[in-house]
Amino acid sequence: MSPDRIRIAVVGAGIGGLTAAIALRGAGLHVDVYEQAPVLTEVGAGIHLAPNGSRLLHRLGLGESLRAHAVRPEELEVRAWDTGAVLARQPMGATWETRFAGSHYTLHRADLHRLLAERVPASAVHLRHRVVAVTEDTDGVRIDFADGTHARADVLVAADGVHSVVRRTLAPAERPVLTGSAAIRAVVPADGPALPVDAMLTWSGPTGRLLAHPVRGGRQTAFVAVLADGSDVDGPAAAGESWSRAADIAALRWAFADWEPTARKLVESAAEAGHWTLYDREPLPRWSTERTTLLGDAAHPMLPHHGQGASQAIEDAVALAALLAHHGDRPGGVREALRRYEELRLDHTSRVRLGSLGGGSQRLGAGVAHVVDDVTWVQRYDVQAELAAAGVL
Ligand code: FAD
Repeated sequence: MSPDRIRIAVVGAGIGGLTAAIALRGAGLHVDVYEQAPVLTEVGAGIHLAPNGSRLLHRLGLGESLRAHAVRPEELEVRAWDTGAVLARQPMGATWETRFAGSHYTLHRADLHRLLAERVPASAVHLRHRVVAVTEDTDGVRIDFADGTHARADVLVAADGVHSVVRRTLAPAERPVLTGSAAIRAVVPADGPALPVDAMLTWSGPTGRLLAHPVRGGRQTAFVAVLADGSDVDGPAAAGESWSRAADIAALRWAFADWEPTARKLVESAAEAGHWTLYDREPLPRWSTERTTLLGDAAHPMLPHHGQGASQAIEDAVALAALLAHHGDRPGGVREALRRYEELRLDHTSRVRLGSLGGGSQRLGAGVAHVVDDVTWVQRYDVQAELAAAGVL
């Protein structure tokens, strides 16, 4: 079978699924994406694209559009929660580009999602297709949808997020563990709190941590507040482990009521925010069967403290496409490609997940240099260099 004859089904048109579609098509493979939503949209929140992820998107041809729509912060500033005094500064921008061979971008999730969607032909994305079951047989994979229809493919890539239907079949006994904290996210007009348009700011105080960064050319500011969370004590089913759940604005304001004026003003300028109860999950022992594999949050959900979820999904997508293009047309090639993909990615993403457990702004007490050092190995990692060294590229 030649690579372009392999039919690949990707479930989920999120950041991981769309990047997989771009990379697979770029490698000359045939892809259909099945997405449950009626339209392609993203939640209103900001996202960091770390150098290890942005480097790959540049190579996939998105460099120009990222430079046009993302902000490239010039520095990271740590402020005192009570006085607002600048405690530490880390240069980013060109300094990080030299250090990590890639740009660190901050942008609105909807912008990143749109830039990716623009690179996949609409004819390859099947909206209103909610997958309810996946069955492998000797000829391929059968994919059943909620409306009673089905499709077939030679390979199935489940990029259907943290509540993945396919992950549940591989790990039926999995139980997410509450961390006791929540991430509250919002995007606000930048002129309210008057923050610098080209810097990331972070504060760490007695009631929580706050991280703010510019999006949309500095016209808006995205923030994430990590706070103790009393909700969801009965598990994800009780309150719904969801990114789109509305936060309690009064409780958010109360948590920051005695913080320094800029931090307080930032939080107060949010008319609405999303509440994400943070759960941890142990890595799965395996991601792949003969013809099915997992990608992105479906494979390795992780806490947001390293800002790496999207970048890890992008690395998965690029690695999987290269391996399927390399092995796919040989007898047993799909199985070999999925085996090597899992071998390359499972251990790496498990280490990143472990770092995320206590990383990022959680470690501000250790000093900003340590926070950056914690992720240096993650941001330097180049999955394509690994594949080249293994003779795949
Ligand atoms: P998703 O984005 O969840 O996409 C899954 C897609 O599958 C969706 O479109 C969904 O509708 C679809 N789908 C689901 N089920 C089905 C089905 N049965 N049938 C068909 N379609 C289906 N990462 C970073 O890199 N930087 C950050 O700064 C950052 N901040 C974060 C902050 C918070 C609070 C959280 C919670 C996460 C953060 N992340 C961050 C993580 C990152 O956003 C995710 O890791 C990333 O979006 C995962 O992408 P995905 O494509 O795997 O999953």
